[in-house]
Amino acid sequence: MRVSVIGAGLGGLCLAQGLRGAGIDVGVHERDPAITARFQGYRLVLSPVGYEALRGCLPRRWHPLLDAILDDAVVEPLILDPHLNKIGELGPARSGLVVDRHVLRHLLLTGLTVHTDAALTGYGVLDHGEGRVEARFTHGHRTTADLLVGADGVGSAVRAVLSPQTVPADTGVRFVIGRTPMTERFAGLSRAFGSKIVGDGPSLLLGAMRFRTPPKQAAEELAPEVTLPDIGDYVRWAMILPPNGSLGAETPQEAVLSRIDGWHPDLRALVEEGDPDNSTLLSIRVVEPRERWARGPVTLLGDAIHATSPTGGNGANTALRDADLLRRCLLRVTEGTQDLLDAVGEYERQMFEYGAEAVRHSLEALPAYVSHPR
Ligand SMILES: Cc1cc2nc3c(=O)[nH]c(=O)nc-3n(C[C@H](O)[C@H](O)[C@H](O)COP(=O)(O)OP(=O)(O)OC[C@H]3O[C@@H](n4cnc5c(N)ncnc54)[C@H](O)[C@@H]3O)c2cc1C
Repeated sequence: MRVSVIGAGLGGLCLAQGLRGAGIDVGVHERDPAITARFQGYRLVLSPVGYEALRGCLPRRWHPLLDAILDDAVVEPLILDPHLNKIGELGPARSGLVVDRHVLRHLLLTGLTVHTDAALTGYGVLDHGEGRVEARFTHGHRTTADLLVGADGVGSAVRAVLSPQTVPADTGVRFVIGRTPMTERFAGLSRAFGSKIVGDGPSLLLGAMRFRTPPKQAAEELAPEVTLPDIGDYVRWAMILPPNGSLGAETPQEAVLSRIDGWHPDLRALVEEGDPDNSTLLSIRVVEPRERWARGPVTLLGDAIHATSPTGGNGANTALRDADLLRRCLLRVTEGTQDLLDAVGEYERQMFEYGAEAVRHSLEALPAYVSHPR
């Protein structure tokens, strides 16, 4: 069986690793000219489901490395004023596993065949020939596969053909995000990590990424065949701008600084010292899975079919869950206990159900971040 995965995001790469481990021939096609072509380095909180799905797709020998590059985040989510005084509580203390997306992508890329500068432009289902689907890419390249998986994110080109009625909805909300190396000064902000800092306008959200072991060192010690980026601990800062909140000509840092005038000097310094290459503005668009498409050798995974708002903290976890579920369904095909199209249909049945729930949950969480809570 040959599988073509479109998109080298977390979902597509996780699936490709799982299939590679199962001895299935898999190739990944990515639109970006290079894997590091744009900002991808925010931290993600892994849920128990996401963590188990990721482990299920990774070779066992990399499990110690995965555990070494995580962070045990224990937070007491508070509501703080601009001078870091407690004015309320967001909820009970919670703990979770945090991972850096850029580092995780490097782990997931190891050993895979990834074709970059390969944007899918269309595909056709073949009646005969060596594979069942022919995918077409920019520069005139083509490839055939028994299964085509669109893991190409919220603007999915695969979805545009497979399910043209499923279109992203723009919430109008914008997300400004950046990161700053963790120094002693900013480590002193620990009370604010996981908390919401509120003034008269949009809230500021901080989160820490502290690797159990620096990723590069962890790979050298635990899995020398893996090369991980040389990055240190950092603080992620983010601000959600309500509808019509436009940046104009401002940089993401300027946009945040102009909204935290007079705030605690450490908060301002944190944003001022942010890494401009790792700060950006993102639109929050969602995709809700509604109508199933006709049975066939093309399917979707991750944000391509259930894009959530980041306020749900569940988009990546759900994409990883998809990858592991599809891997397990395809294993039955290689074992000869299920037909390919039945296996894909079973994956879609389950994925539609929990994917729709993930989107609902993330949208319910959005207003609390957008409104002014004071
Ligand atoms: C700021 C922020 C914070 C977040 N925090 C969390 C969190 O804490 N927990 C959580 O679970 N989720 C979180 N998420 C959501 C999570 O990052 C996404 O849900 C997840 O990355 C989706 O993975 P994916 O593989 O489906 O898509 P993507 O990661 O979007 O990958 C899609 C890939 O497909 C490529 N592509 C697009 N079009 C084509 C084409 N035509 N041909 C070939 N390739 C193409 C793209 O270049 C990209 O590499 C967060 C998101 C943001 C923005």
